[in-house]
Amino acid sequence: MNHRRIGILGGGISGIALAAYLDDDVDILEKRSRIGGLCATVVENGFTFDAAGPHIMFSKNKEVLGIMVAALGDNVHQRRRENRIWFKGSLVKYPFENDLASLPKEDTFECILGYLKNPHANEEPTNLADWSYKTFGEGISDKYFIPYNRKIWNYDPKKIGLEFVSRIPKPPMEDVLKSAIGIPTEGYLHQLHFYYPVEGGFEALVNAFASRVRGSIEREWIVADVRRDGDLWRITSTTGDVRTYDTLVNTLPIHELLKVWSEAPQETRDLAAKLRYNSLINVLVGVNEDRGYPYSALYIPDPEIMFHRVSFPKAFSERCGPVGQTPFMAEITTNEGDGIWELSDEEVIERTLRDLERVELLDRKNVNYTKVVRFTYGYPVYDLDYRANVTAMRESVAATGMHLLGRFAQFDYINSDVCIERALELSATLAR
Ligand SMILES: Cc1cc2nc3c(=O)[nH]c(=O)nc-3n(C[C@H](O)[C@H](O)[C@H](O)COP(=O)(O)OP(=O)(O)OC[C@H]3O[C@@H](n4cnc5c(N)ncnc54)[C@H](O)[C@@H]3O)c2cc1C
Repeated sequence: MNHRRIGILGGGISGIALAAYLDDDVDILEKRSRIGGLCATVVENGFTFDAAGPHIMFSKNKEVLGIMVAALGDNVHQRRRENRIWFKGSLVKYPFENDLASLPKEDTFECILGYLKNPHANEEPTNLADWSYKTFGEGISDKYFIPYNRKIWNYDPKKIGLEFVSRIPKPPMEDVLKSAIGIPTEGYLHQLHFYYPVEGGFEALVNAFASRVRGSIEREWIVADVRRDGDLWRITSTTGDVRTYDTLVNTLPIHELLKVWSEAPQETRDLAAKLRYNSLINVLVGVNEDRGYPYSALYIPDPEIMFHRVSFPKAFSERCGPVGQTPFMAEITTNEGDGIWELSDEEVIERTLRDLERVELLDRKNVNYTKVVRFTYGYPVYDLDYRANVTAMRESVAATGMHLLGRFAQFDYINSDVCIERALELSATLAR
């Protein structure tokens, strides 16, 4: 039996970044043969794809962004975001309300009318759909904001709270009106420029932190049992390997932790059962032609099309595909039982290629690569009771002495920069 001071469950960016700031008396226990979790990369047939969907490096915390960029040394460059919304065959600049002139004329008119003559303007919204009506009016809400959000969350926007609306860009009225008559504006400057690894996809960032880890990173080490053993935490793998730790940090999704932590408080189980998440299917596609698309991503609110976003890995780094070929990723959010998650990989590919042809991005006779990647945990969904449930869940775990860190352990809609920021904070606490 192996004893160390700190055990970290899970080798995604949270676990790896934390270990990078600790001494050598640390284990990271990761079930896959590859570290990275949601930040992992798929490299096949000359293509490089971010496994869970496109990842960019950005942060409101300039210190953390500096750490991320520095960690990559020479292997990083800056790119400009070129996102569009696919609306009835037109490509509208992101955010939608900043390019209303690109819509069919009747739609432009309905959006402007709803924006200026808004019966919801003085309401006090309590959910995402009503917030949209108040902020953008009925035209923009019904044509774009509500259908898109219904798709990405795979949930009714009337049942989603207001937790993340501060992240949604709200251009000034002048910009909306200018754009509606065809005067270009750039409404969303945050993330206009982002960093990305030149080589190796987003996982290169995780590997850069991993190279600083002085403790041990165990791969193919599947946590099968977590329990207290006196003052220690005792962790057992599926193969019967046993490790003990003075301090335990969990980065596994809370719902996965509860499957292997039989002594977990009943309160934690009851609360976690109320935390809603959606799952992800990311369809990776390669074609043997290059039409020189300038876009980073297209957002697709149309409910008839299965995916909500298509991205173009070569816009992140030219090295993501061979010369003369184009990689695409099509992301689908789903939940077990909704019929989409149950589709076979062949069916998912078939529908995705059909829809990629409908949005006129490719001709399927040129397709030379396809793969379906599934993640059970994609996005935490901030339903109306989210804040109360998640706060009580975290408190119930903290009372046991276990630390939670990361997107699905803390159950928080955070990106890798915040994972790193929190890893830094926790490393300072644990070093005391
Ligand atoms: C579609 C999408 C787009 C995103 N875009 C961006 C972006 O542009 N920029 C950005 O910075 N972030 C982005 N993110 C967020 C980012 O991916 C996450 O915040 C981050 O990867 C979370 O890392 P984590 O270590 O907390 O969790 P995870 O990556 O989920 O790591 C948990 C680890 O635990 C392991 N594990 C699970 N069960 C066991 C077990 N029983 N035993 C051992 N190990 C186990 C898993 O294999 C995994 O490696 C995006 C996320 C998604 C889904």
